Amino acid sequence: MNANLNSIRAKLEIRPGRLFIGGQWLDWDGARFDQINPNDNQIIGTFAEAGQRGVDLAVAAARHAFDDGPWPTLPAQDRKRILQPIIERIYELEAELATLQTLDNGMPYSFSRHSRASGKSCADILDHHAGWCDKITGETFPRHSSSSNLQYLTYRDPVGVVGAILAWNVPLNMFAIKVGPALASGCTVVLKPSEYTNLAVTRLVEIFAESDLPPGVVNFVTGGAETGAALAGHPGVDKVTFTGSAAVGERIVSVSGANMKRLSLELGGKSAGIVFPEARSVASAATTMMGLCSTFLSGQVCTTPSRALVHRSIFDEFVHHASEQVKQVRFGDPFDPATTSAPIISRAQVERIRNLIDSGIEQGARLAFGGEECDDIPGGGNWIAPALFLDVDPGMRIAREEFFGPVLCAIPFDSEEEAIRLANDSEYGLAGCIFTTDIAQGMRVARSIRTGAIGINGYASVANAPMGGVKRSGLGREGGWASIDAFTEIKTVAINLDG
Ligand code: NAD
Repeated sequence: MNANLNSIRAKLEIRPGRLFIGGQWLDWDGARFDQINPNDNQIIGTFAEAGQRGVDLAVAAARHAFDDGPWPTLPAQDRKRILQPIIERIYELEAELATLQTLDNGMPYSFSRHSRASGKSCADILDHHAGWCDKITGETFPRHSSSSNLQYLTYRDPVGVVGAILAWNVPLNMFAIKVGPALASGCTVVLKPSEYTNLAVTRLVEIFAESDLPPGVVNFVTGGAETGAALAGHPGVDKVTFTGSAAVGERIVSVSGANMKRLSLELGGKSAGIVFPEARSVASAATTMMGLCSTFLSGQVCTTPSRALVHRSIFDEFVHHASEQVKQVRFGDPFDPATTSAPIISRAQVERIRNLIDSGIEQGARLAFGGEECDDIPGGGNWIAPALFLDVDPGMRIAREEFFGPVLCAIPFDSEEEAIRLANDSEYGLAGCIFTTDIAQGMRVARSIRTGAIGINGYASVANAPMGGVKRSGLGREGGWASIDAFTEIKTVAINLDG
């Protein structure tokens, strides 16, 4: 392993390879797998492959804690009082958590420590959701007809045992956006991080393990597709909350029918950024969009607008500023403050991105710059030079499939109607952004695009507002009340007032 990474890793006391089930750490006697660091393709940790057996144990513990334990019925204030010190501890350990996240997925430490994907952000998300504990209320209804004298009211019951399956790109935030609302609602959880990023989540679970949370409320299994599938299909799980690819999301839908599992699916995207001549600055729009594809996680973010729809009158100016932006990109040691970008998470993902780039060239698109693998970066690692495709036909694979990498496709348009049509010409509908100073235009276009979220002159998800996708980008929303809604079931009670 890279000497710097090795010495940082050695100083951290996290103990990989264990499962946390029913309030106990379990030294796993079954299969194991290696986590590979994308900065140097060396082993950074060895973890338990929980498989069906580990998942059975974890679901049984979560089931027991839900069916027989105090958590679902605990007074709201007590639930909140148990969560609050956990959140404070995460704030205290935010630097360590940021370090682990960087060791996990190569996110430059400057982002892991200070951006919206930081340890602090993880605590902020948990804090927001803990605030809901004593605000989850039902409704009362006026008498509807004279034929009965029944008073109707509703409760919000926790949905039950939750299987939470995470993607790899922002493990700290992803943990919080799933565990936070589940616990606030009174659910119990079996959580599985991505097989690519176990370190930061293991540390978070250690913090939960040291708290006053009753045994079995949070359970933690590690593993890959086999373990994920065991959790998604388990008859003891009432709800699956999943973040990942649309392909795996579709598999989860197909196995969830047996016991009518509730589903929240946060899946992929092919979002459009639309730049109008009325944009405040074409340079700023180009720098933002190319920057989202080239810095931070190198385009490996679900909401990244990877299709730039640019008015023909400003197209060349946009391309010029995008090509200037990539000159700022620096690859290398993620703990060096000069490093701007993360490596591609795995060799398999490098191959997938390269294959999609090749398909673009074969189908007649033109690379303005980038797209080649950079194998001369000290320390090795998976690096692809940020790329901009021109002469893109909307029917090409590069305009339709998610890269989840550092590639932007620029497509010109001539009218607002054409921009809307191009933006909607996608099987995905996750996010997007409109660059214009004409607020009426911004609102018109925002309302016309089929997407779960969209920004006018900027977009980022936050803990207290809903985020999620339409079409192939998923089911349900995360953030704010929408999360609580998704982790609770409405129970209607009728009281006969005639006694
Ligand atoms: P992935 O679908 O390959 O894996 C996600 C998780 O699913 C992992 O934990 C994996 O082990 C597990 N898994 C794999 N096969 C499974 C199966 N058959 N049953 C159950 N679980 C299984 O995705 P990834 O590469 O980790 O993440 C990248 C994808 O996630 C991209 O498509 C990206 O757009 C999406 N993403 C979406 C959001 C969002 O909020 N919408 C956020 C981040 C990432």
